[in-house]
Amino acid sequence: MEKIHMDKPIVELDGDEMARVMWTWVKEKLIYPYVDLKTEYYDLHVKRRDETNDAVTFHAAEAIKRLGVGVKCATITPNAERVREYGLKKEWRSPNATIREILDGTLFRAPIVLRNVVPAVRFWRKPIVVARHAYGDIYSGVGLRFEEAGEAEIVYRSVSGREVRLRLPPLKGSGVLQAYHNLDSSIESFARASFKYALMNGLNLWFGAKDTISKVYDARFKEIFSRIYEEEFREEFQKAGLNYEYYLIDDAYSRVMRSDGGFVWATKNYDGDIVSDMIASAFTGSLALMTSELLSPEGYYMAEAAHGTVQRHYYKYLKGEKTSTNPTAIIFAWARGLKERGKRDGVAELIAFSEALEEAVRKTIEEDGVMTQDVAKVAEPPVNIVATTEQFIEAVKRNLEKLIEKDC
Ligand code: NAP
Ligand code: MG
Repeated sequence: MEKIHMDKPIVELDGDEMARVMWTWVKEKLIYPYVDLKTEYYDLHVKRRDETNDAVTFHAAEAIKRLGVGVKCATITPNAERVREYGLKKEWRSPNATIREILDGTLFRAPIVLRNVVPAVRFWRKPIVVARHAYGDIYSGVGLRFEEAGEAEIVYRSVSGREVRLRLPPLKGSGVLQAYHNLDSSIESFARASFKYALMNGLNLWFGAKDTISKVYDARFKEIFSRIYEEEFREEFQKAGLNYEYYLIDDAYSRVMRSDGGFVWATKNYDGDIVSDMIASAFTGSLALMTSELLSPEGYYMAEAAHGTVQRHYYKYLKGEKTSTNPTAIIFAWARGLKERGKRDGVAELIAFSEALEEAVRKTIEEDGVMTQDVAKVAEPPVNIVATTEQFIEAVKRNLEKLIEKDC
């Protein structure tokens, strides 16, 4: 069979530990034999980030701006322990945060819905995609602990010298306080990315906040979403038969539980942090059955696996033991990245290949009942035989070849 030709390269961001091992296996077994793979390679191994004073992370993000499409492996965000383990100069910042910031991206996390992995919420049939705003709020807030009664003010001073003072309620004893912010431009990017993703995937969009209580802060989010919808997306949404709904955040949480899925839920930073993990574990029981895509308003795109480097499994692997680590999210990251490249360059074979690759994983788990231990734990009906990572990849490869043959 002739390999599928790629017009332009995608940016490849390699990572750490077990995720890095699986990354190589997936490329060797499931991509190279079928695709004449063109990538611009950036090694984000924690040692390499250390050697380059993290410049490699910035270069990789800039490359995504240039080429439009990237795929990323999981990477270590070093803490004190990792600094000792790898002999690093310092606790480098999370590469994910750096990349999200440079691309001004919104993160979309969706469960991979399989027939024999039954959601904990029995009404859920279709995926619920969580879109998480990734700027501001408590994540760049400041906090203060005070020891006795007193008073506090927020002072805003503009570059042109305008000053606004805002007094908090009297502080009657010891306690804590916190202040945080957001930017209109970032909220606008978040809204645009959410509307675009919903359109691209034919899904309705929800946004939830607490504007009844947070009459300035959350109300600003609501206002911006509504304006951008009216001005830029209403027509396209109507044409596609889709809708946009704003809900009070508590209403949104309870509606999610009663829904059958099939929508994008845009969330503020904190809601998204919590809710994406909750939806993932309630839907599939495993972080390896999630896709994670970053989309920016300029149209930069990056696909990644939502899980980490799976350190515990890596130590076993280093001792020569076989592990049953699930490569599904990594396979999907490659499939989504290649598909996006195919769409942008008009390479139909690449799109078809990516779809076959996802289908091959589905068939392996649903029809063959071949799965890694994390999925086996939650599968219905239960399975007794658990595959190693390599056996799982081999099973996917067999299905992929059948699907490709059928297509030819
Ligand atoms: P993790 O690597 O996601 O692993 C947590 C646990 O989840 C694992 O020990 C394993 O459970 C299970 N798990 C995760 N992925 C799995 C897979 N593909 N197949 C089977 N089981 C899987 O998270 P962590 O242990 O908190 O973090 C490890 C490192 O990853 C840290 O250095 C962190 O900085 C980094 N991290 C990176 C990213 C990213 O780059 N996107 C995200 C999160 C964390 P069992 O051990 O019970 O089998
Ligand atoms: Mg979280």
